[in-house]
Amino acid sequence: MSDTSSHLHYRRLPAVDMLLRQPPLVRAARMFGQDTVTAQARLQLAALRAAVTAGETAVFTLLDHPDYLDRLGHLIEAAVKESCRNTLVPVFNLTGTVIHTNLGRASLPVEAVRAMEAAATENSSLEYDLIRGERGDRDLHIETVLREITGAEAATVVNNNAAAVLLILNTLAAGREVLISRGELLEIGGSFRIPEVMASAGSVLKEVGTTNRTYLGDYESAMTSETALVMKVHRSNYHISGFVHSVAESELAGMARARNCLFATDLGSGTLTDLRQFGLPYESTVMDSLANGANLVCFSGDKLLGGPQAGIIVGDRDLVDRLKCNPLKRALRMDKIGLAGLTQVLMLYRSPENLPARLPVLRDLTRTLSSIEQMAQRLLPRVKDALKNVEVSLAPCKSQIGSGALPMEFLDSAALAMAPAKADSDEALQQLALALRALPKPVIGRLHDGRLLLDLRCLRNEEEFIRQLDLVHHSL
Ligand SMILES: *Cc1c(COP(=O)(O)O)cnc(C)c1O
Repeated sequence: MSDTSSHLHYRRLPAVDMLLRQPPLVRAARMFGQDTVTAQARLQLAALRAAVTAGETAVFTLLDHPDYLDRLGHLIEAAVKESCRNTLVPVFNLTGTVIHTNLGRASLPVEAVRAMEAAATENSSLEYDLIRGERGDRDLHIETVLREITGAEAATVVNNNAAAVLLILNTLAAGREVLISRGELLEIGGSFRIPEVMASAGSVLKEVGTTNRTYLGDYESAMTSETALVMKVHRSNYHISGFVHSVAESELAGMARARNCLFATDLGSGTLTDLRQFGLPYESTVMDSLANGANLVCFSGDKLLGGPQAGIIVGDRDLVDRLKCNPLKRALRMDKIGLAGLTQVLMLYRSPENLPARLPVLRDLTRTLSSIEQMAQRLLPRVKDALKNVEVSLAPCKSQIGSGALPMEFLDSAALAMAPAKADSDEALQQLALALRALPKPVIGRLHDGRLLLDLRCLRNEEEFIRQLDLVHHSL
């Protein structure tokens, strides 16, 4: 393009005021506010100017069009709509991973949701002692029930389990050594790596043993007068097998006690009840760790526990008191809405036998294969009807618990398996997956062996699901 041509095109770029008078932008201003539209018009004009400078032919074609003002109006209207689109929306989790960190982990029981709504919309006794009429402690709401369920002397709660680990290390071992097995130096994802958390807490990590085998003697010989804490981290998201050895919690606790050292366990997922009573695989409980002699145990609120995001710490009274005095506790404290929900979820653990009926996470995990298969049978003809250009069949599949609980255990489940009817290409399959993700309530499945699998374990509302799929075939 010649200089004169780009000069001409610069001059064609309208003034903001003139753009704002275009009907699409008048309409957009009524829906999204004048300021939003003006800001977007400025942004788009700047982008067009840059495109002219760069000599992009598409922008010359646009500006040469007789109706270019109208076209610009529509372009900016679309940009306004896109910038106002809500990106945090409910989705169907049909990935087969029940507690999916990227999809918001545990869905909450109604009791918790009601309490959270009340805490959000009204004032509450969050930090107020109603009997004495003076300042109270926000931890008390969860401490009583946690002590009752776990038998621990004391309990406290922070924003999430990563914060709980940080608080424990910083309080008990800042500037001092923490012993941990090389087999437990894990990364959880989202950049939570045990060695890095140690460093942020100001603790000195002392690695013990090897990746696959660690013995009590390794801990004993690593211990010095500088050692403050022995820590065990639950191997959440991976499994090692073969030539392996690790030291039991009770042995570590005994050794730490004999050497005047503290012992803490990061359980990760953590559960407050024996899951075998629901036909699920065994996952060690918070009570097991306490009985094994851990001084402190921490775990997540929104993994197997099935509550809101939280990091729960239970254990010795004097240690919990020290945690609560650390200024970091104030920075990491749990919010009032989560606290209201967590309190209700913990209450449900008073009657564990009712948990599968009342706690969504356990309801999903304990759904029987036959109930999922029956749902798949019911849905199959309706889904075929909704997705005319897609081959849909039933397929057995395996669900995972997720979020680092029992990484090697799979639950038998049933899926709707989809593949584009004509095109047998990966691109067509990606298109199909994208079409489902683009729905008003996105459907998230998983790609496996050239098909899109929708694991029905976590599907709750069949009608709502079909209504969404009915919207797809227009876009395929
Ligand atoms: C998940 C996990 C954490 C982090 O918990 P969040 O609640 O996600 O902050 C820490 N340690 C272990 C072992 C975990 O599995």
